[in-house]
Amino acid sequence: MPINLEKLIQNNGWFLASFSEVRKYGNFDYSVFKDNLGITIFIKDKCLILFDDNVSEGTKRFTIAHEMGHIVLNHKDNTINQRTRETQASMFAARLLMPMCVLNECKVKSVKEIQNMCAVSFTAASYRYDRLEMLRNRNRFYVDDMENFIYKLYKPFIKKYKKDHHKFYLLEDYYKKIINKYSSLKNS
Ligand SMILES: [Zn+2]
Repeated sequence: MPINLEKLIQNNGWFLASFSEVRKYGNFDYSVFKDNLGITIFIKDKCLILFDDNVSEGTKRFTIAHEMGHIVLNHKDNTINQRTRETQASMFAARLLMPMCVLNECKVKSVKEIQNMCAVSFTAASYRYDRLEMLRNRNRFYVDDMENFIYKLYKPFIKKYKKDHHKFYLLEDYYKKIINKYSSLKNS
């Protein structure tokens, strides 16, 4: 943590470009940039994520992870309504950037700690912290296969984090495995 989104996108063969880059080099209908923080374009089997780079780092990262959700959850065929698609993509982003069982195992104590650990915005970290507290009250962890899977992957990270709270480790391989897991779920 924090997760390296660029590398993950690269590993999956997707493409990433900021709105500024597209404005500079692209030939594109820029009007869609106005009301969106991010857009995913599907061209045949290629996926291109475009994101607003005129926002904070945390917001950028959430946007990119959200767009990755649209790709992984196969939203391009539009079989479910848009509101559901947006909710699913944001849930995917939150789970990818701030895995709940990891926050719990690391005994996270504040919004700020999530912000630092996961490189997300204060807003995103606040929502996640509220949910973490709620789950702690109900003791609702490891209720699905995905959580157990993520916990096993993150075990070394959790161990290191507990030892030294201020050192963070990039463990990109984990995320690749998580994406594969999500991809296999959507096909079952
Ligand atoms: Zn979206």
